[in-house]
Amino acid sequence: MKEKRIRGIAASPGIAIGPVYRYEPTLVRVEAETCQDVSAELARLETALAEARQELRLLAEQASKSVGPNEAAIFSAHEVFLQDPELLQQVQQRIRQRQSAAFAWQEGFRYYIHQLGAIQDEYLQARVLDLEDVAQRVLRHLTGQSEQSLQLSTPAVIVARELTPSALVRCPRELVLALCTAQGGPTSHVAILARALGVPAVVGLGESATALRSGQVVIVDGEQGLIVAEPGEGELTLYRQRRLRLQEQAKRAEQSRLQPACTRDGHSYPVRANIQAPEEVAEARACGAEGIGLLRTEFLFLERSQAPTEDEQLEIYRAIIEAMRPAPVVIRTFDIGGDKPAPYLSLPSESNPFLGVRGVRLGLKYPALLRTQLRALLRAGAGHELRILFPMVSSYEEAEALRQLTRAVQEELRQQGQPLAERIELGIMIEVPAAALLTEAFAEVVDFFSLGTNDLTQYTLAADRTNESTAPLADPFHPAVLRLLQLTIEAAHRRQRRVEICGELAAEPLAIPLLLGLGIDELSMVPRAIPGCKQVIRRWAESEARQIALHALQMRTAAEVRSYLRACSPDELTAKEDGGSEAERA
Ligand code: PEP
Ligand code: MG
Repeated sequence: MKEKRIRGIAASPGIAIGPVYRYEPTLVRVEAETCQDVSAELARLETALAEARQELRLLAEQASKSVGPNEAAIFSAHEVFLQDPELLQQVQQRIRQRQSAAFAWQEGFRYYIHQLGAIQDEYLQARVLDLEDVAQRVLRHLTGQSEQSLQLSTPAVIVARELTPSALVRCPRELVLALCTAQGGPTSHVAILARALGVPAVVGLGESATALRSGQVVIVDGEQGLIVAEPGEGELTLYRQRRLRLQEQAKRAEQSRLQPACTRDGHSYPVRANIQAPEEVAEARACGAEGIGLLRTEFLFLERSQAPTEDEQLEIYRAIIEAMRPAPVVIRTFDIGGDKPAPYLSLPSESNPFLGVRGVRLGLKYPALLRTQLRALLRAGAGHELRILFPMVSSYEEAEALRQLTRAVQEELRQQGQPLAERIELGIMIEVPAAALLTEAFAEVVDFFSLGTNDLTQYTLAADRTNESTAPLADPFHPAVLRLLQLTIEAAHRRQRRVEICGELAAEPLAIPLLLGLGIDELSMVPRAIPGCKQVIRRWAESEARQIALHALQMRTAAEVRSYLRACSPDELTAKEDGGSEAERA
């Protein structure tokens, strides 16, 4: 058979070669049924819910051990869905109308999902798969069916229409060579899990995925979002060589991960970690992070029914600062709103949440919430230097207001005799083109800048980062984005301000010469990417990087930039992350 190339969305880097395992779990469906004994059916529902909750706790534990705390949080979120009073009321009402518990649950949940789907909220819409997973779990308990797990006995490339986190967590990691799904985008849970596991993944393959059969050998290129089915000898040799190179590079990177990242001509760059839960501090340190460049604090504010108290926050921030000492920790104030709702704020739904009240817009609208966080931060920094970062700043007035608010909180704490941070640096994320263009003005009121290329890309290119259809447009290598990075860095340096990057572009090996050449001062990324990034930095001389950046800035398309960078640094192409040590995955 002639080799066939199927294109999808690159969701997790690395290369895998191996046989396909098609995972096609059948969904539990029940026909309309009535019941005689309403209270017995209500009790059956209660039992099934309790069993499902118990199962979710076990899955969370399993995920926490095998993947990490963030992935475990997926299952805690599932548990929250099971407690939604609106959903439960809906189902109980149906049972009282004499529907069987199973049918009432199926239909009640269907209605609930339909309602959520109608809400113009990308976060919830992206979670529909999770909801279906939860619905099936309870339905299985009600009908006495067991979960169809992924039954792998030999290493394989899993191909599925969609993959739920629970199916994945139960599967032995060493047998999973790669993940390929017809549905899903780069922000789906499968993509997140694959990256956390270090398994290559290609998602959004659409109907083409159905052409792949169990047992058929495929190459999965997680870097390019490509699957080669029935590869010829030439292609196999090429990819095997690439995989081997990757494995060797990853090994070298691993060995030198605790050393600083210095260019060949002696410039050193701090490489720090992006984390979003206190449990990740250990991983950050183990990966060689020289501090935390971005602590996303949303974990304290989302998926709960009340805002966190000052003391609760204080304890967590303090623990993280202490654990990283003497390396710096940049703590970002909550970036809620947009795709990350906080139920206790009862925010009105917005037709374009990403263009709505998120980040500091929300913080300035609810100053009590931000004040509490600032108090906790300033207190947590007592005896240390403190770096606070504000997300989603788009105007000078906002930056000024944030600075004033921080000063006011500082004064208030002083008057109350509370110990607080001695030296405080305030920074803003550059995520909105307006902020990039006004960097020089912002330098009057802030001490440093952090390039949030995830959002800067979506706002510059008008391509929603959570929308699968616009995912190919949202390319941070687009020359328009690069020019904004250049403007920001040049303006900041004119005013002796530091520029860091914490968007995912920093974790792209291809982007390293570009970033060094543009004059970036510090980099921050997911912990796993740190060893590889340090290794790539060591390969370059700053003078070379400057030439490359100048040249790339003249290009017209993201594709041209990427292919130019590939040509300049063929070896670094996929040095980003190692997929594992097995023979068939890198
Ligand atoms: C960014 O926008 O690049 C960023 C780092 O912030 P987040 O991904 O949390 O929006
Ligand atoms: Mg952002």
